[in-house]
Amino acid sequence: MAKRDYYEVLGIDRNASDEDIKKAYRKLALKFHPDKNPGDKSAEENFKGIGEAYEALSDPQKRAAYDQYGHAAFDPRARAGRGSGFHDPFEIFREVFSGSSIFEEFFGRHDPSQPQRGDDLRYDLEITLEEAVLGCEKKISITKSVRCETCAGSGMEHGSKTRVCPTCGGHGVVLTSRGFISLRQTCPDCKGSGQILEKPCKTCHGDGRHEHTSEIKLRIPPGVDTGSRLRSSENGEAGFRGGPAGDLYVILHVKSHDFFQRDGDDLLCEAPVSFVQAALGAEIEVPTLDGKVAIKIPAGTQSGAAFRVKGKGVRNLQGYGHGDLHVRIQVQVPIHLNAEQKAKLREFAALGGEDANPIDKGLFGKAKNLFR
Ligand SMILES: [Zn+2]
Ligand SMILES: [Zn+2]
Repeated sequence: MAKRDYYEVLGIDRNASDEDIKKAYRKLALKFHPDKNPGDKSAEENFKGIGEAYEALSDPQKRAAYDQYGHAAFDPRARAGRGSGFHDPFEIFREVFSGSSIFEEFFGRHDPSQPQRGDDLRYDLEITLEEAVLGCEKKISITKSVRCETCAGSGMEHGSKTRVCPTCGGHGVVLTSRGFISLRQTCPDCKGSGQILEKPCKTCHGDGRHEHTSEIKLRIPPGVDTGSRLRSSENGEAGFRGGPAGDLYVILHVKSHDFFQRDGDDLLCEAPVSFVQAALGAEIEVPTLDGKVAIKIPAGTQSGAAFRVKGKGVRNLQGYGHGDLHVRIQVQVPIHLNAEQKAKLREFAALGGEDANPIDKGLFGKAKNLFR
């Protein structure tokens, strides 16, 4: 049978530029690649022919020779001394596609028949502020894949073997095309491993792992905050074919607290005091996360004034001591006064030379300037 013309094989004309040749090759090579056409002999022949044509036409010297002598240019019997051997068509394919994302998509990024590390797992855990500040132990229940004990994760019966998956040729992926779009899919027959098990393990059906729910004890150190991440190594998904397990990451979320707010390693709280206490000064008790402390507020303390209780904040996670507790005073205005108390307050106001009218004239005096 006469050999087809190389230009015809690539579907280009004789004046095609180097770029045209490459483009034509890329398109056809993807179309006829044996991974995409498993078991299809004519596709395989086409793939080889395309590689040969590309190799000849992409090299200016070879192309010139071909243009002059045709196929005879590469026939060792016809032209002694000229290098005639063509490369392996797969090698050409790799050369042309290496570094391009299509190549990566086509073959995947790793050897799927090799053991693989299991996936990492994420678990979101809500804790109270007390637990975050003081540290705690928590038990969490996690459903994840674990290594099959029957086959020690290999997925196959003891003493049995594997062979290369005929569907994907061991690549673990197949390409299917829909119109102009090529889709890379995990090989349905070997599930991406590239290998077929002769006798799959009866317990795990060849997966080497199975789902299992287990309880994991976590020790949460004092000082963690929302967003803190704890890593529990090898407590993630089991590896594939005996690979190591992934890690478990626990992301902490600290619930809001009724009394305390957190600001880094400091804690903030508000303490209500009566206006008499504020005016005369007092010792008040404020709660901290580990017991109460007494603080002294001086006479004439205003609402909003803040007092610092040193070292009563959160222990620094990196070991840099403790934060502080900031207590903000809220002066309470008395309500439900009886007649006698009201009379005394008016008397009190009059004693200070103050009009009993509660509006602060000073403030209005200042505000007037704003609206001028
Ligand atoms: Zn396969
Ligand atoms: Zn098994």
